[in-house]
Amino acid sequence: MTNRSVSARVAGIGESPTLAVTAKAKALAAAGESVIGFGAGEPDFPTPDHVVEAAARACADPVMHKYTPAAGLPALRQAIADKTVRDSGLHVEAAQVVVSNGGKHALFNLFTTLLDPGDEVLIAAPYWVSYPEQIRLAGGEPVVIRTTKETGFRATIDDLEAARTPRTKAVLFVSPSNPTGAVYPPDQVEQIGRWAHEHGLWVVTDEIYEHLVYGEAEFASMPVLVPELTDRTIVVNGVAKTYSMTGWRVGWTIAPLEISAAITRLQSHVTSNVANVAQAAALAALTGPQELVEERRLVFDRRRRTAVELLEKIDGVVCPEPEGAFYVFPSFEDVLGRDIAGRRVTSTLDLADVLLDAARVALVPGEAFGAPGYVRLSYALGDDDLVEGITRIAELLG
Ligand code: PLP
Repeated sequence: MTNRSVSARVAGIGESPTLAVTAKAKALAAAGESVIGFGAGEPDFPTPDHVVEAAARACADPVMHKYTPAAGLPALRQAIADKTVRDSGLHVEAAQVVVSNGGKHALFNLFTTLLDPGDEVLIAAPYWVSYPEQIRLAGGEPVVIRTTKETGFRATIDDLEAARTPRTKAVLFVSPSNPTGAVYPPDQVEQIGRWAHEHGLWVVTDEIYEHLVYGEAEFASMPVLVPELTDRTIVVNGVAKTYSMTGWRVGWTIAPLEISAAITRLQSHVTSNVANVAQAAALAALTGPQELVEERRLVFDRRRRTAVELLEKIDGVVCPEPEGAFYVFPSFEDVLGRDIAGRRVTSTLDLADVLLDAARVALVPGEAFGAPGYVRLSYALGDDDLVEGITRIAELLG
């Protein structure tokens, strides 16, 4: 008998700090405050009209009112296979695809399917908040590899090799990265893939920001560059970031058939299929016109440059230029120790609090990503808000 109400497994996980910041900012905004939210990892654009129309048609179709196969609508799984070869050059079969409730759920499925207690997964910090929590929930051990702005927040083979043990089962690879916006050049992607193959490791490659790369940076899919790795690679992707569809909750895994079948069994007992209407919307997004993807990328690129330029002007702030995704990840280390708005700010957690209270600016402290001293600002918000928000930060710190 135990008196504990919440299981030890779940008691050990914290709330997603990014969702918490967003919720706090939205609550203040709902109360009539003028809050600038840099917290959310979601594009400010609406979902494209043709996608919404396809969803509306699906709503009206009684066939779509029923369960679909747990792994997803066959047409959508095929469209995902087609999209994968179109966008990243990786040839896969529809049977390797499992459609889940967003990339987040896809990751949870795969960690649960892949990991036994004590299995280690290498992840580079700064990391996306849900990776370590999900790995732990699945019984695995996240092994964190520190990276710094000096190396562009990219892990090297030496870093990976130093962290590898006989218990290492997988390496989690994400490029472009959330929260840093780091993009690995193709030769580094290939090196890491060869290293993983040489040591018989699994690779989980999160390609959710594949279309959001800027300047000279280039997206590269690891199993395309290292085909030998294909039968130990799980690709994660989704429609959320590319098509402004965060709320629709459609993501997927692409895995070797044995793993896909296992993920499907798992999902069949947990959530069954993703809502049909959302699947129909995702199908329209993947198979419809793609011009919007590039148009929106250009908008993000403009905002990225504005954000870096304005942040760099603030005394004590160093803002490396991110090459992908829609986040900047500046260091505020030289600001710490100062009194700001009547409070001694000793950490970026304090800083995020003061900025929300005194300047009504919401951003996510680096602590959430295993990187104290930094903050993450999403620039997926309107141009005017972007400028206004950074100006408020500059004024408060000035
Ligand atoms: N992977 C990364 C790196 C992300 O930043 C996110 C969302 O923030 C996801 C996966 C999951 O996205 P979704 O669950 O909305 O598809």
